[in-house]
Amino acid sequence: MKTIKEPARETKVIREADVVVVGGGPGGIGAAVSAARNGADTVLIERYGYLGGMGTGGLVTIIPQLTDYTGKQQIVGITQEWIDRLITRNAVDYPKKEHWGSLDKELVRYYFQRSFFMTRLDRVVYAAIIDAEISKYILNEMVEEAGIKVYCHAWGTESIMEGNHCKGVIIESKSGRQAILSKVVIDSTGDGDLFPYAGIEYEDNIPPHFRIANLALCFWVDGVDLKKAMDFRQNNPKEFMELNRKAMEAGGQGGFMPSNLPNQDAVVWFHNRYPNKSQIDVEELTRVEFEGRKKMIKTWEFFKKNMPGFEKSFIVLSCPQLGTRSSRRMVGEYQLSEKDLSDNQPFEDTIAIFPDLDRGQDSLDHPNMYIPYRCLLPKNVDNFLVACRAFSSDMHVQDYFNLIPHCIAFGEAAGAAAALALRAGVGVKDVDIKALQKQLAKQGVPLPDVSKKVDYKYDGPGLVSTSFTPPH
Ligand SMILES: Cc1cc2nc3c(=O)[nH]c(=O)nc-3n(C[C@H](O)[C@H](O)[C@H](O)COP(=O)(O)OP(=O)(O)OC[C@H]3O[C@@H](n4cnc5c(N)ncnc54)[C@H](O)[C@@H]3O)c2cc1C
Repeated sequence: MKTIKEPARETKVIREADVVVVGGGPGGIGAAVSAARNGADTVLIERYGYLGGMGTGGLVTIIPQLTDYTGKQQIVGITQEWIDRLITRNAVDYPKKEHWGSLDKELVRYYFQRSFFMTRLDRVVYAAIIDAEISKYILNEMVEEAGIKVYCHAWGTESIMEGNHCKGVIIESKSGRQAILSKVVIDSTGDGDLFPYAGIEYEDNIPPHFRIANLALCFWVDGVDLKKAMDFRQNNPKEFMELNRKAMEAGGQGGFMPSNLPNQDAVVWFHNRYPNKSQIDVEELTRVEFEGRKKMIKTWEFFKKNMPGFEKSFIVLSCPQLGTRSSRRMVGEYQLSEKDLSDNQPFEDTIAIFPDLDRGQDSLDHPNMYIPYRCLLPKNVDNFLVACRAFSSDMHVQDYFNLIPHCIAFGEAAGAAAALALRAGVGVKDVDIKALQKQLAKQGVPLPDVSKKVDYKYDGPGLVSTSFTPPH
């Protein structure tokens, strides 16, 4: 391959901080807010003009899997605070708390029709559907209140290394190439963009049949007579399926989801999957942007012409940021693997509990997955944390747990750990785990009693549902 040699250059240091977080998506929000609230002078770098990542710009506005099958909420902390703020602005839909975990058939049917995500394993589960625009505003509010210095429209392009110590990041923006120095660096880019420069080991081996192997170009269609469309779907399921099949035959896609949000009765969402060679290859990203928009137009034209309820519809928005489900995954101090999905024991350094809801009977037998702090730590860099879907996991764990609230939970733990380590004058690898767990508990994060062996056996009713493929 032909290369050029770039000349060495002086780069202006524009800021020195305790913690720099690169990427303002779910992981980055959790990390920056948690670090700043724990006293760290924190900088957040975001390549676009708004925060939220896939959870706003990717039009992925379903915050799922917050309760386990019993109805106990396992992901709380900053995720719940964000949802609470959305509730005060009437910008979220979710099942009533008293219904979480219910097996009542009528309730399950009701919530299933409202949103597929509100039921699992024959039960009602807590999933929140949020308004992307209000969310952008609320995330700004949260970082401003926490006193975080934010740089939008800035790409974190390289880590600044001194041996196995990361001293900060290079950012590139309209202001040019600049440096930010920090004591701890948190990669929340979703894609582990800093890994190659920091020499952090990673994998990106996702077989094409995995859900997370696909890119997406989600879009919203407005002006839909939703009652007419839903009545048609309910009363003529065969014709509805046939029309969806024909939409695909015509080069579009089938299937849509109602927005569920207050006063958005005329809006529906289209999510999709685009196979690709890599989710971090600029040519592939460009190809899918073009292919996705062609398919979007074909879909809408077909629906407008043929699907009852879509006669006066129009495309109101295609996602400002292409949907990425998974790319680089760190091989860190502990790599969560498929084997861990079927283990009911917490780790000594557990920093989060993730409900396991997508694996049928296996989920009932192993209702929660425990997340160790070590899956946020690279092996060979000493002041670096990973707080996003690039956490250390194999493709199976990634397929189930690349989700938005889960990434916020990684961030919440990473941010608190960075601040605690700095306060104690130690590296992030040597943070006092008990102190970290105590702090997370104070922030409302449910954690297990790691001193006790979990003695669990499922003794509830057998499952009626048979399909458990994660739909995200
Ligand atoms: C179509 C689709 C459907 C999905 N469905 C669901 C669902 O229903 N529920 C769910 O919970 N999850 C779902 N997911 C998965 C989920 O959205 C992501 O895995 C999750 O958002 C990951 O969060 P993150 O913080 O790791 O990364 P992201 O959300 O990708 O955020 C990364 C942030 O970093 C910024 N960034 C990236 N690189 C740089 C850089 N070099 N410099 C500066 N900034 C940078 C990005 O702009 C972004 O703001 C879906 C994903 C897709 C694509």
